[in-house]
Amino acid sequence: MKEFINNILEKESFSKKEIVQLLSLDKYLSKDLLHKKAYQIKNEYIGNKVYFRGLIEFSNICSKNCLYCGIRVGNTKLKKYEMSVQEVLEAVDFAWKSEYGSIVIQSGEISTPAFIDKIDFILKEVATRTNGEIGVTLSCGEQTKDTYRRWFQSGARRYLLRIESSNKDLYYKIHPKDEHHCFEDRIAALKDLKDLGYQVGSGIMVGLPFQTMENIADDIIFLKNLDVDMIGLGPYIEHSDTPLYEQKNYLTPKIERFNLALNTIAILRILMKDINLAAATALQAIDPEGREKALLAGANIIMPNLTPTKYRDDYLLYEDKPCTGEDAKQCKGCLEGRIKKYGETIGYGEWGDSKHFANKHK
Ligand code: SAM
Ligand code: SF4
Repeated sequence: MKEFINNILEKESFSKKEIVQLLSLDKYLSKDLLHKKAYQIKNEYIGNKVYFRGLIEFSNICSKNCLYCGIRVGNTKLKKYEMSVQEVLEAVDFAWKSEYGSIVIQSGEISTPAFIDKIDFILKEVATRTNGEIGVTLSCGEQTKDTYRRWFQSGARRYLLRIESSNKDLYYKIHPKDEHHCFEDRIAALKDLKDLGYQVGSGIMVGLPFQTMENIADDIIFLKNLDVDMIGLGPYIEHSDTPLYEQKNYLTPKIERFNLALNTIAILRILMKDINLAAATALQAIDPEGREKALLAGANIIMPNLTPTKYRDDYLLYEDKPCTGEDAKQCKGCLEGRIKKYGETIGYGEWGDSKHFANKHK
C-alpha cells in the first residue's frame, strides 16, 4: 500500500481515479503519507508561516435559502442582526493592533443599496484608519459586477465565494431550484471577480448528503481549472433548523467528514502549490484542534473570530460552532499557543497575499 501511494504522490498531476484513491485514504500510515507530502510542498513553496484573517461576521441577514445553512432566510427562529459601522471598526482596530495583517468581512447575501453603501463606507474607513496596513477580504455572496468593482475601488482585494459543489445536480440538491440560487450565476460571479483583479477564493463543503468521492474529485479538478488564488473548504455540519437536516441519517460520521476534509486540503495543496488554503472553522466544530491539524495537511490560513460575542450565537451556520462564548482576545491567545505547539510560525503584520496570484501576475 505504501509503495502504491508513493507512486501516485510522485506524479506531477493526478487522474480523477487517483484523486478518488487519495481521498479515500483512512489508514494512519497511508493518510500520513498524503498529509506529509502536502506539508512538505507547503513549506517548500510558501513556508511554514500561518497568516491570520480576523473574521468579522458582519450580518446574519440573508436573502437566500440555501438548504444547509442556519442563517437562511427561511429560518425564522433566528434573531437578525447587522453590526454597526462602529462595531466593525472596533474589530478592525483589534486586528490592526494585534498585527493580524488582514480581515474578512463575511455576511448573508444582501444586495440593497443600503447594504452596498455600508460595506463601501467601511472599506474606505478601514483603508484610511489603518494607512492601508490591513488587507480586506470580502465574503458577501453574489453581487453585480458593478458592486464588485465599486468595492474593489474602495479597497477590497480578495473575495471568497464558494461554489459549494461544482456538480450541477448536487448543487440543486442543496439549494432551492429557483432564480435566486442559479448555478451558472455563481460561476459567472467568480469570473467577474477574476476579471476585476480580485484574488479569488472558492471552495466546497465535503461530506454533504448525496455527495460521492467522484463529486469531490471533480470539485478538486474544477478548482484547479478555475485557477483560484485561495481556497476555503470544510466539512458539512448539519443544523436542525434547515431542510437538509432531513437527510441526517444518510451522513457519514463527523470524524469521517473531518478526515475527508483534511485529505481534500492535502490533495489541493499538492496540485495547487502556492495558493492560500484556509483551515475552516467548521473543522474545529468536530475536533478542538481541527484547524491546527489542517495546517499539517497543507493549510496556511486561519481566521480568528473578531465578531462581538453578543452576536456569535446568531451567526450559527451549523451546530456545535466552536468558541461562540470567547471574545477576540481569548480567541487570539488560545490560537497562538496551539499554532506554536504544531511548529508553525505566525505571519504577524503582513497581508499574507496569495503567492499564486503574485506569481501569475509577475
Ligand atoms: N453568504 C455568503 C455565501 O454564501 O457565499 C457568505 C457567508 S456563508 C455563511 C459562508 C459559507 O458557510 C458558505 O459558503 C458555506 O460553505 C458555509 N456553510 C453554510 N452552512 C454550512 C453548514 N451547515 N456546514 C458547513 N458549512 C456551511
Ligand atoms: Fe445565505 Fe450564504 Fe447561508 Fe446561503 S450560505 S443562506 S447565501 S449566508
